[in-house]
Amino acid sequence: MPFLSGTELEKVYSEAKESGYGFIASNIAEPNTLIGLFEAAEEKKSDLVLQMSNSASKFAGDGNPLTGLRAMSNYIQELAENYDFGAFLNMDHLKESNMDFIKATIDEKLASSIMIDASKKTFEENVKISKEVVDYAQGSGIIIEGELGKIKGVEDEETASAEAFYTDPDEAVEFVDRTGIDLLAVSVGTQHGVSKGKDIELREDLVKKIDDALTDAGFNTPLVLHGSSGLVENQIKKVLDFGVCKLNKDTRYQYEYARAAYEFYAEHKDSIIPPEGVKDDREGFFSDTDWSPVKSDFDPRVVSRKIRGEVKKTASNLFEQAGSVNKSLYME
Ligand SMILES: [Zn+2]
Repeated sequence: MPFLSGTELEKVYSEAKESGYGFIASNIAEPNTLIGLFEAAEEKKSDLVLQMSNSASKFAGDGNPLTGLRAMSNYIQELAENYDFGAFLNMDHLKESNMDFIKATIDEKLASSIMIDASKKTFEENVKISKEVVDYAQGSGIIIEGELGKIKGVEDEETASAEAFYTDPDEAVEFVDRTGIDLLAVSVGTQHGVSKGKDIELREDLVKKIDDALTDAGFNTPLVLHGSSGLVENQIKKVLDFGVCKLNKDTRYQYEYARAAYEFYAEHKDSIIPPEGVKDDREGFFSDTDWSPVKSDFDPRVVSRKIRGEVKKTASNLFEQAGSVNKSLYME
């Protein structure tokens, strides 16, 4: 199945909204997490929503976001050819300051959807900036996510907002109407970064109010929750019932990545670090000592497979919770 555009993604979300399930939008910055996610989607017969931020693109491009995005987008497209589900790429939290990057992404069709986040601006500025992106993407097959309200926490390696500002349902209607955005990210109590389900005062009632207000005004806009890493299963279930179709997860995968690598290296320390009393001769690559490092443990592919396996396991559970399992619209 080739990598798919926003036109197909729109169908995927609309089917999900109709049937009360959703997708975990999973952040990537490099191939290990990416491949773990592909394996999870295949096993669970789910379509796959990947996402990359500007800084993840920069990371992949050694400082140049467009280079990084081109490389990763191609990587995804090549991988997707070998799988039997729909694979999509969303651009996460692009800002007004990334406008050239946004336009290049649209011109070169490097993604399926783009999130324009002008939520820190005034309402009027947010409308203007978001609409500029919607207008530019017209006819490209790329769909646009906007954000209204402020989500607390650390996003994309910077503190975005120290305080949460909840989304107002009437403003949400006006925002969707005036911008023409296809998806709306709302602030209802979730936090970017590390947060705990028990500490999150999730306003499910507000999710429902926003969805009801949009529906009454004739909009069928799928809602998006950012900062979902700390949400527990019953919290996810409730928001899915109230019109949320996309739950963003980044932090959770980062932790599982680090945990898998840590556990593997801790367990195989003796294959990598010389024992007490043996000269730590890295420069001479231990040519004068009896001890040698064990290649079958330090080859980066070995730890990478563990990482992919852990990401796969985590993603599979999350896909179950979101309800996208066995729902791929593109399986043969
Ligand atoms: Zn976010």
